Amino acid sequence: MVIRLEANLDRYDDAAAARRAGARSVGLYRSEALLLGGALPSLTGLESEHLQAEAYEKLIAAFAPGAVTIRTFDLDEAQADALDPFTPSMLDVERHRPLGVRGIRLGLARPAMLETQFRAILRAASAGNVRILLPFVTTAAEVDAARAILESARDALAREGVAAPRVSLGAMIEVPAAALTVDILAGHADFLALGTNDLAQYLLAADRTDARVSGLGQPLHPALLRLLRMLPRLAARRGLPLSVCGEVASDPVLLALLVGFGVREFSMTPAALPAAARIVEHASRAELVIAARRAAREFSLAPIEDYVTRALTGALTKI
Ligand code: PEP
Ligand code: MG
Repeated sequence: MVIRLEANLDRYDDAAAARRAGARSVGLYRSEALLLGGALPSLTGLESEHLQAEAYEKLIAAFAPGAVTIRTFDLDEAQADALDPFTPSMLDVERHRPLGVRGIRLGLARPAMLETQFRAILRAASAGNVRILLPFVTTAAEVDAARAILESARDALAREGVAAPRVSLGAMIEVPAAALTVDILAGHADFLALGTNDLAQYLLAADRTDARVSGLGQPLHPALLRLLRMLPRLAARRGLPLSVCGEVASDPVLLALLVGFGVREFSMTPAALPAAARIVEHASRAELVIAARRAAREFSLAPIEDYVTRALTGALTKI
């Protein structure tokens, strides 16, 4: 069974550990971590472009010839203006809206920011193999608009004497509307990456940062299971790869379940890679398909949890 396992990375400093854990490529680089500690003076302009290009180049070179998937800044307006999304005291809580102008919405509302990031990635692209991933996509029109900015950034760089290769443009599937229209998005994006962390919180209306309700967003809710089962099939119908980069992939039972649903690419926190590699090397795909099919027929949380844990852990303990 050919299954690709990649690393989720937040910082270049984690690249060496990810490689030691077996990662040969990066399925999700959360580029907003570049802003940590106010390290970027601005999100637009030539200085920012060169600082970003330097950071992307280091990362791309560290994994070459493996691919590095750079997700464009997943920030809302307040985080972008604070220039350090990880310092809560700097956030304007009034404008910090996870359902507002965020991710690709912010990129399109502030095209100079998106263009600067695209130019930086294109400058770094010749260091190896890079892909660009758009966060928080809701409509196909957003992918088209981002692609137009990417192409114009590439043309502008070419006029300045910097030849950049064509770079694949992917969409994150983490908004329920995007998940339900994944076959439509597949006609506009070059690849799809399923973000189960946000998909679960928005599908189940359970804030992932609020410990009192985040348990509701756990991945075995039947609503999420139905979607997870449907998505690989819809994407495959359009011939497009669908990877899972939410943290569900770090849980051996859920990883096995997703393999049973037909997912063939996973990106996860590097520490989870060795266990995941053992599962995909030794588990029987046929057994996982049967177990996953049965799990998806359950209608309440407890039996699913119990069933999946018993059936899949049974298969896994043989490893
Ligand atoms: C996700 O939402 O599942 C995801 C991978 O992105 P993040 O955790 O950065 O929101
Ligand atoms: Mg997300």
